[in-house]
Formats: sequence, structure tokens, C-alpha cells
Amino acid sequence: SQKMAKSSFEYVKKFEVDDSLLPNTWIVVRLDGKCFHKFSEEHNFSKPNDLRALRLMNYAAFTVLREFNDVLLAFGQSDEYSFVFKKPTTLYKRRAAKLLTTINSKFSSSYVFYWKKFFGEEPLKYPPTFDGRVVLYPSDENLIDYMKWRQADVHINNLYNTTFWTLVLQGNLTPAQAEKRLCGTVSADKNEILFQEFKINYNSEPEICKRGTLLIRKSIFNKNLDKNSNIIVDTHDDMLKDRFWKEHSSLLLNRSKETLMYDGPVTDI
Ligand code: ATP
Ligand code: ATP
Ligand code: MG
Ligand code: MG
Ligand code: MG
Ligand code: MG
Repeated sequence: SQKMAKSSFEYVKKFEVDDSLLPNTWIVVRLDGKCFHKFSEEHNFSKPNDLRALRLMNYAAFTVLREFNDVLLAFGQSDEYSFVFKKPTTLYKRRAAKLLTTINSKFSSSYVFYWKKFFGEEPLKYPPTFDGRVVLYPSDENLIDYMKWRQADVHINNLYNTTFWTLVLQGNLTPAQAEKRLCGTVSADKNEILFQEFKINYNSEPEICKRGTLLIRKSIFNKNLDKNSNIIVDTHDDMLKDRFWKEHSSLLLNRSKETLMYDGPVTDI
């Protein structure tokens, strides 16, 4: 019979490998746009920071958090986004491929689906690709250092890119000349070039560009409904400061979310 035939093929299922991730560890999924240097040029991203693109990334990540309650928080910058799962999550039995592909798929399709919402008349010329990886962090300290590492990366890149593009767009240097000018410079030198030659105070640049975006869940008291509502908020706080982790000490705990009176943007990030 058909059924017997099917069961004789079924042994192939055993070829699948068990990729369930170690329990009681932090699961981080990081996605990154493929060849976004090129993608950003072909879609006329403004340099060094296209805010439409950053907001679209944030919105795509927001759709991930909205759908997957097991994602605790997310951090994004440039063409990348990191998703941190709640430590005791059992989503998809912690199977690595399931977690990674589902998050990547939701993110990538949202990026395309909501393109027009952020880019308006600028057409999407071809379907973008995102790569992804899963990393496990055993301790809170490791996870915090991971978050600090990604945010330090924003700072280094953004200071370089801001200075580079200011030299090109306002200083009329060619990209090659700007690159040469910045070769071997440290942060202080770049701040100095911006301030002395272009009267730009780097500290006044938008927080979203300097620090990236942290999406976290919060609970707010809704007066009209007389109940608490769970929301996802975008913040640009400095995670490199230990003060941040003190003030957000409940962030990594799987207890109830911080309840607060919040007057910032809610879902429309
Ligand atoms: P890979 O496929 O190896 O990731 P890549 O070209 O995507 O290659 P990345 O190191 O990921 O390289 O860097 C992403 C690049 O995308 C940036 O260097 C920048 O040129 C561009 N980019 C991403 N987001 C923005 C943005 N919001 N505004 C302007 N440019 C951006
Ligand atoms: P899971 O998330 O576990 O995969 P699922 O609902 O996607 O759940 P599947 O076992 O993957 O379950 O089955 C896919 C289902 O999607 C089918 O059972 C059918 O109902 C529907 N489906 C998929 N493709 C078609 C199609 N071409 N025409 C009609 N129905 C379809
Ligand atoms: Mg890469
Ligand atoms: Mg990339
Ligand atoms: Mg990148
Ligand atoms: Mg299915």
C-alpha cells in the first residue's frame, strides 16, 4: 500500500541532525545585509546615514519582536540586527536552524513588505539578501559584552563615516583623498577635523546614528483602558556605560517587564 511505501522511505528523516541549542544559555541571532555597500548605492541611500533605511531596519525588527514573544530584545545598526532570546526559551525546542531561518525570513520579508512605507517613491530594484548566524552566550557578562561590542562598532564606524563623507561632500575631497586623510587617525583627530574645519560637533549628531537602536519591551499603564499594556520601544541609550545596565537591571531577568510612564513613540518606530 501507499502507506507501507511511505514508511519504507521514512528512514531518510533520521539523516537530519539534532541542532538543539544548549539550555540555559543566551541565544543571539545576528542578521546582516549581503553586499549592502552596493545595495545602499543602488538605492540612493544618503551618506553616511540614510534615516529611511535605519527606520526600515528598525521596523522589520519590530515585526519580529511583535510576532515572537520569546525574543527579549534586539539591537540594530547599519545593515545588521541582533535578536536576543529570553534565556529559558523553548521555542522550536531551541533548534538552531528553525530559530535562525524563521527570524531571518520574517525580518527579510518585512524589509521588502514595508519598503514603500519608508522609501516612498524610491523603487526597490531587487530582492535584498540577509545572512544570519546563531551565537550562544553562557553568562550575563558575555551577553552584555556582546551588546557593548556591537554598539562600540556603531560608534567607530559612524565617526569614521561621518568624517569621511564630510570631507567628500563638504570638503570636496575625492573618496581616495578622504581615505588617505583619515588613514592612521584616532577618534580625537576625527572629532577635531569635524569641529575645526566644518564646525560640526560630533556629539550633536543624531543618537540613532551614533548609538544604533535598542528595541525593548515595556509595560505601560494605559489610563483609558485602566490596564497595563505591553509595548515595544526604540531607544538609543549608551550601553557602554555601566550606568545603563544598573538602571536596566531587570532587562535580562525573566521577570515582569519594567513598568513605567512612557511618553515616547510606541509602535510606529
Ligand atoms: P557583506 O555582504 O560582507 O555584509 P556589506 O557591503 O553589506 O558586505 P557591511 O560591512 O555589512 O558590508 O556594511 C554595510 C554597508 O551598507 C555600510 O558600509 C554602508 O555602506 C551601507 N549602509 C547600510 N546601512 C546604511 C544606511 N542606513 N545609510 C547609508 N549606508 C548604509
Ligand atoms: P508549520 O508552521 O508547522 O509548518 P503549516 O501550517 O505550515 O505549519 P505544513 O505541514 O507545513 O503546516 O503544511 C502546509 C499547509 O499549507 C498545508 O497543509 C496546506 O493547508 C497549506 N498549503 C500549502 N501550500 C498550499 C497550496 N499550494 N494550496 C493549498 N494549500 C496549501
Ligand atoms: Mg557581513
Ligand atoms: Mg552587510
Ligand atoms: Mg554590516
Ligand atoms: Mg509549513
